[in-house]
Amino acid sequence: MKPILTVLWLALAVSSFALTPGPTIIRECPSCKEPLKQFTIGSGNNFGATFWTDGKMEAPMWPDKPALVNCPHCMKTFWLEDVKQLAELDLFRRDAAKHWETAKVVVDPVETNYLAAANAPGVKLDRELYARRHAWWLANDAVRRQADGQLVWNAAQRNNLQRLAALLSDKDSCEGLQKGEIFRELGNYDACIKLLDGLPTDSNTTKMNADILKNLAIQKKSTVARWP
Ligand SMILES: [Zn+2]
Repeated sequence: MKPILTVLWLALAVSSFALTPGPTIIRECPSCKEPLKQFTIGSGNNFGATFWTDGKMEAPMWPDKPALVNCPHCMKTFWLEDVKQLAELDLFRRDAAKHWETAKVVVDPVETNYLAAANAPGVKLDRELYARRHAWWLANDAVRRQADGQLVWNAAQRNNLQRLAALLSDKDSCEGLQKGEIFRELGNYDACIKLLDGLPTDSNTTKMNADILKNLAIQKKSTVARWP
């Protein structure tokens, strides 16, 4: 390969793995009305990602940008898409960026924020699922990287998992796997095995993942695990 082509190929290869920022959105806190910065991702990928049995993906090239956030001024929790957008800043609008320079960045929610959002009266199903999954992942983070980690679920966490399991379908292989994982993590090993045995195995991956969860349940292991 000619040197110039090699350089071009390398540049393309590197850029295809790169994480590039998207525009910064300026929003208004619905409570204290302060302007807030929301960073977005332009493009990313799951190169080098770790996948967990609770459905969490940790990808250095695709960091989680929560749809639910806290205001750093008044600590009010809100869904980003619900609140007023004041400006959208891209790399070429330096004057606008300067205008919003002092705006603080929105803060990631903690587990109790997600639980409150999931239990809010009249919450839409997609938001409830999102909030319950994120609360679950944050709870599991305490033991995610411990060799012998063992979670003891408190009442709120247990309710969250039971409610999430009730919302997931046994007929869908993806949701069924997640439901089986919840049963396993709650220590309901028989229910986990029964559900996974009846799961529609529409792909080899589903079958392989169901077998992995089943083996953990047979060994009475309840801690979140890394997919091999
Ligand atoms: Zn606020």
